Amino acid sequence: REEALRRAERLESLGTFAGGIAHDLNNVLTPITLAAQLLRQTLAGSPEADTAEMIETAARRGAGMVRQVLTFARGVESGTDRVDVVALLAELERMVGETLADGVALTVTPPPAGTVVIGDATQLLQVLANLISNANDAITAPGTIMVDARLEPREDASGRSLVVDIVDTGHGMSPDVMARLWEPFFTTKPVGKGTGLGLPMVAAIIRAHGGSIDVDSDGRTGSRFTLTLPVDEVAAPSTPIAVDAESARGDGR
Ligand code: ADP
Repeated sequence: REEALRRAERLESLGTFAGGIAHDLNNVLTPITLAAQLLRQTLAGSPEADTAEMIETAARRGAGMVRQVLTFARGVESGTDRVDVVALLAELERMVGETLADGVALTVTPPPAGTVVIGDATQLLQVLANLISNANDAITAPGTIMVDARLEPREDASGRSLVVDIVDTGHGMSPDVMARLWEPFFTTKPVGKGTGLGLPMVAAIIRAHGGSIDVDSDGRTGSRFTLTLPVDEVAAPSTPIAVDAESARGDGR
């Protein structure tokens, strides 16, 4: 217990520290991104345009990482929007489609029309985009990422849950890696590629939505992440969801 408390305190001060740096970094990256974008547009058609694009892409990726650190440092409070899951998944496909490596196919199976989760659409998009980005990183093309959403009865038979499987055909995870997945800053990716904050953030958002997350892998042929979220069973006219795709993208890619 004492060890757990010390650990929590250590994490909290680490979070505050990282949050401070992330905030300052953001102020540095924003003008770089804007200037590179302007340059790219001005130089369109000339060979230097590619260089400007490289700067812009790198700065955006940096901003994505900073966003992860900030979300993590600030902690997560879920919202009270009625999130239409079918619309959310359509937005997800549009958003991550262009970020996948060549030869990586994404298939999405939506839940029944009218499935509604109470929470924050941007956060939920961030969760799914992060899991898909990890899956994409784990795959040596060709490969597939399957997002399969459905309604299932709850274990205590008190209604239904939304269950979303994110299954990839990547390299999978060893038991050692699986045991450490949820630790902040745990990453097997090279410096500059991974922050190790993606999954802790995913877990924090899902917890804030009253849900849970499971993981499974045979360590060779791929991984499966399973999200379980409470659904709002009251039928109501569907309201359009406001989704800020740019700020939802987990890693800026
Ligand atoms: P990051 O992506 O920055 O490394 P995460 O917290 O998202 O941080 O993931 C931590 C680690 O978990 C990754 O470095 C990787 O080793 C492992 N991992 C996560 N998702 C997958 C996946 N779909 N397939 C294989 N390994 C994964």
